[in-house]
Amino acid sequence: MTAKIIDGKKISKELKNEISLKIHERIAKGLPRPGLATVLVGQNPASQVYVRSKHRACAQVGIQSYGYDLPADASQQEVEHLVSKLNFNPEIHGILVQLPLPDGLDEEKLLNQVALEKDVDGFHPVNIGRLAQKGRKPLFIPCTPSGIIYLLRRTIRSLEGKNAVVLGRSNIVGMPVSLLLLRENATVTICHSRTKDIPALSRKADILVAAIGKPEFVKGDWIKPGAVVIDVGVNRVDDPGSKRGYRLVGDVAFDEALEVASAITPVPGGVGPMTIAMLMKNTLDAARRSTR
Ligand code: NAP
Repeated sequence: MTAKIIDGKKISKELKNEISLKIHERIAKGLPRPGLATVLVGQNPASQVYVRSKHRACAQVGIQSYGYDLPADASQQEVEHLVSKLNFNPEIHGILVQLPLPDGLDEEKLLNQVALEKDVDGFHPVNIGRLAQKGRKPLFIPCTPSGIIYLLRRTIRSLEGKNAVVLGRSNIVGMPVSLLLLRENATVTICHSRTKDIPALSRKADILVAAIGKPEFVKGDWIKPGAVVIDVGVNRVDDPGSKRGYRLVGDVAFDEALEVASAITPVPGGVGPMTIAMLMKNTLDAARRSTR
């Protein structure tokens, strides 16, 4: 079997085109342009790259973006003051505090401070709490997990009753994607660093989501024939033959998985582009709610 490649780049482009069309329709009706503010504290190079690509995506779809960069030694009070100013700015519909924050800043306190209706990253404790409760509706769902569900829905007719195994339990990916899979009526197993015999558990998965941050951790013989594999990991490995001296690989040994799975996301070009498209969607939703 050679797995179908789930083309996140193409799917995210289609989604961004739909979003862009809706934004242009809004503007033609005289409604305000959606606005997204990014708050970047410090100079983490990966965070700088992510923030830049979010601003680029905003420009593509017609969202007005505002970048706020603070030094790594900014105090909790300074960052909170900025967030509270943005909460009251009517031109800003979504606020994204780029994580991770430098040591010394209280992440939970800051995320709690973002106005619920502007929490386009979906990390406000109330939104996450609602996600975890049956019958409750969060205002926003975190972007990487919702991008994963979007890709799965495009790949499988129904997730109901499927055995889903999630490797990783982080607040950003593993935990929220597990909650979303549960909402789709999948039967969910969550694995982490203390789990015994991950290969055996993985082999039971109709849907395998790998989000642990370890290059090519999942081997081909851990995958059930015909499973759908979502590789969230983004890992740099040395590659002296390439121009940059490294290449990006996922958490799954891609070539091995290709022979066993029915469908798989590549790295790069799978989950990554969906994360940004979902942020654009959340920002448009925030603007719609505020001007209804
Ligand atoms: P994280 O916060 O470091 O969490 C890693 C998780 O993996 C933890 O739950 C950890 O278990 C588990 N883990 C680590 N080593 C393990 C092992 N040997 N066996 C089993 N479980 C293990 O990472 P993250 O933020 O979720 O990110 C995971 C990966 O996804 C990274 O490569 C990251 O770059 C990537 N990512 C991609 C996107 C995207 O848009 N494509 C977005 C976010 C993240 P414990 O809880 O027990 O420590």
